[in-house]
Amino acid sequence: MMETINSSKQAIELEDKYGAHNYHPLPVVLSKGEGVFLWDVEGKKYYDFLSAYSAVNQGHCHPRIKDALIEQAGTLTLTSRAFFNDVLGPFEKYITEYFGFDKVLPMNTGAEGVETALKIARKWGYEKKGVTENEAVIIVAENNFHGRTTTVISFSNDENARKNFGPYTPGFVKIPYDDIPALEKALENKNVVAFLVEPIQGEAGVFTPAEDFIRKASEACKAKNVLFIADEIQTGIARTGSLLAVCGNCTCEANCEKQTSYTQPDMLILGKAISGGFYPVSAVLANNDIMNVIKPGQHGSTFGGNPLGAKVAMTALEVVRDEKLALNARKLGKIFRQRMQILVDKYNILKLVRGKGLLNAVVVNDSEDSSTAWDMCVALKDNGLLAKPTHGNIIRFAPPLVMTEEQLHECCDIIEKVVKEFDKK
Ligand SMILES: *Cc1c(COP(=O)(O)O)cnc(C)c1O
Repeated sequence: MMETINSSKQAIELEDKYGAHNYHPLPVVLSKGEGVFLWDVEGKKYYDFLSAYSAVNQGHCHPRIKDALIEQAGTLTLTSRAFFNDVLGPFEKYITEYFGFDKVLPMNTGAEGVETALKIARKWGYEKKGVTENEAVIIVAENNFHGRTTTVISFSNDENARKNFGPYTPGFVKIPYDDIPALEKALENKNVVAFLVEPIQGEAGVFTPAEDFIRKASEACKAKNVLFIADEIQTGIARTGSLLAVCGNCTCEANCEKQTSYTQPDMLILGKAISGGFYPVSAVLANNDIMNVIKPGQHGSTFGGNPLGAKVAMTALEVVRDEKLALNARKLGKIFRQRMQILVDKYNILKLVRGKGLLNAVVVNDSEDSSTAWDMCVALKDNGLLAKPTHGNIIRFAPPLVMTEEQLHECCDIIEKVVKEFDKK
C-alpha cells in the first residue's frame, strides 16, 4: 500500500528507514512548488534559493513546460532509438541552432553527458589526432565536479566522493583551476586529447575564474589540437546572466557566436535546466568533425532522445528565450551581490560574496569544519528561505531566474536578518 504523508516528521522517518543515506538534506519536506516558491507539508511557504542545483531556472512547475509535458505524455513517451520518433529530429534541429553547433547527442543525466563527452574526446583523439590507442590523456581542474560515475569520481579530489570506490579510471591529469600556465604545461604532452572544465566551479563553492580564462584556455587548446570541453550543466541556460557562461558578457539570449566575448567550446555539455526541472535531459553538442567519430552501436541510452524529454527540453529552452531569463539573471545578480557586499562589509560573520548572474555564494567567516553555514541555512529555512551549504562554510544562493526585483529584495532582507543574528553569537 502507498503511504500518504501527513507530516514532515513522518516523511523524514520514511526516508531514513527505507532510503539509502547518500544525502544529508536540510530538515524540510516539500510538497508543492510554483515559480520561485516552495511549500512544505505543513503549508509553510519558502523562497527557493537552490533551484534544485540550477535545474529549475525557469521556476517550479512552469505552466508552458507543464502543458508540453502533459500533451506529449498522452501522445508518445518512449520508443527507444531502435526506431525514429517525430520529436527527436525537431529537438535536434532546435537545440543545435539555439547553441550554434552542427550536432547533438542526447542523454539523460548530467553525469551521462560528461561520460559521453569523454568517450567522444578519446575516440576523436585516436581516430583524428592520431594518439596511440589507450594512451589518451584528458586534463581536468582541481576541485572539479562533473558527476558521480566511477570514471568521473576517478578525477575528483573530493575524498568523500572517491574513497573506497577505486580502482580508478586512468587517463586524467589534474591542474589548478584558473591557471593558464599550468594548462599550457600540461598541454605539452602530445597524448592530451581534451581539457574538461566548468566555466565557473559551482559545487566547489562558485569559483569564478579570471575574465579571460575561458578564452585563453580555449586558445591554448586550439594551438595544440586539443578539444576544449565546457561542462555547463550548472552554469548554462541563463544561470550566470548570459545564455552560457562561455558567452562572457554577451547579453543576447540566443547563440551569440558573433559577439567578441563568446568562446565556442569544441564540445558543450548541458543538463539540469534544459529539463526545466521536469524530466531529466542532458546533451552534448559538437560540430561534425568531432561528433561524426561516433557510429551506430558505439554509444547510446535507452531513454536518451525520447520524445517526452525532447519536447520538454525544447519548451524549456523556448521559455528561457521568451522570458529573457539571462537578462533578468544578470540584472538581479548585480543587485544581489551589492546587497551581500553591504553585509560582508558590516558583519564579521561573512567573509566575502562572489558569483555571476544568479549563481552566487557567500563564504562564512568560520573554519571549514564548523557547522555555522549549516546552522545559518537552518535559520534561513525557519525564516522562509531555502539554501544549502556547499563545502563546509560556503552558502550557495541560486534562485529560479523568474524572480522579480521586489522578491529579491525581500530575500536579501531575510538573509540580512539571519546574518545579523549570527553575527551576535
Ligand atoms: C550537477 C552537475 C553534474 C552532474 O549532473 P547529474 O545530473 O547530477 O548527473 C555534472 N557537472 C556539473 C558542473 C554539475 O553541476
